[in-house]
Amino acid sequence: MRNLIRQIRARIPTFECRPGCTDCCGVVPWSPWEAARLGDRAALAAAGLEALAERAPERCPFAQSGRCAVYEERPVMCRLFGVVEDLRCPHGCGPQTLLTRAQARAILEDYFRCFNPMRKEESHASSLPCAR
Ligand code: SF4
Ligand code: SF4
Repeated sequence: MRNLIRQIRARIPTFECRPGCTDCCGVVPWSPWEAARLGDRAALAAAGLEALAERAPERCPFAQSGRCAVYEERPVMCRLFGVVEDLRCPHGCGPQTLLTRAQARAILEDYFRCFNPMRKEESHASSLPCAR
């Protein structure tokens, strides 16, 4: 899974977000490999889930002080936001060349071949609050 996810990441263009913005940071699925890469930070996030759920149930706990606290390890779904022609940043940020819908679909098909986010035992979506 590690190599596959690394290859998928390499297919996704990057860009600079608006400073201090985490507006699109909601609840997203994490593959088991991505979640494992968080190490203790995943446990910390899970510990804060209850308080977070009361305060802002749709927010990712890693969105802290206007930035992603796990940016280098953010999951594929986070990397796709703002880089697809029909998944654009509301603030106009994004790479020079956006992925087409077909390219994004191909990436997602490969990604979800790694795990089944609908099966609790295969996904960390339910145990990791940031599952954007
Ligand atoms: S993609 Fe846009 S909305 Fe999302 S964090 Fe970056 S600047 Fe904010
Ligand atoms: S993990 Fe994703 S949703 Fe969470 S703060 Fe980082 S970019 Fe936002």
